[in-house]
Amino acid sequence: MRQDAASEALADLNAGNLRFCAGHAEGPRRDAERRRAVAAKQSPKAAVLTCSDSRVVPELLFDQGLGDLFVVRTAGHVLDRGAVGSLEYALEHLQIPLVLILGHSCCGAVTSAVAGRPGPGSIDWVMNAIRPSVWATVSAQGDAVENAAREHARRTSSDIARMSALLHEAVERRRLSIVSAYYDLASGSVEFL
Ligand SMILES: [Zn+2]
Repeated sequence: MRQDAASEALADLNAGNLRFCAGHAEGPRRDAERRRAVAAKQSPKAAVLTCSDSRVVPELLFDQGLGDLFVVRTAGHVLDRGAVGSLEYALEHLQIPLVLILGHSCCGAVTSAVAGRPGPGSIDWVMNAIRPSVWATVSAQGDAVENAAREHARRTSSDIARMSALLHEAVERRRLSIVSAYYDLASGSVEFL
């Protein structure tokens, strides 16, 4: 049942992304009527964990509207306790069937992690969270930043399960699907990994 809902949500996001790529985005469910309808209660079809990058806007690139997506964003979609707790909230209180982890091309956070530059303040904490994905792809062919970003999107799904017993158990019980994807800034296309 929940897996059907996850598949349906994925198909819907994919269809929205195809419209966005083709320049036929409909901008659905963004009018005053929808705004009033969701003011009292939200029932998002999926949670999206993605980067804070200004060019990666889930509602736009999946052609979704108000109340459709529960979005958690940190630089490089790194997982801290706030991000994990937010996803747990979406599962427990909003019954979302799907968590989509969306990495992207030309990610500044991943680029810095690949370059190995230490950052001031808490920026280094963000870099450290990405570095295992850099190390895992250090000998891979092709573009180092792209390889690390894809790996980081894949790795984040196992990190979620490791960091959250609630989310892990929901996956085991088939109440929740966690899927990774990669967004190309230039083409606008999302590739499910
Ligand atoms: Zn980014």
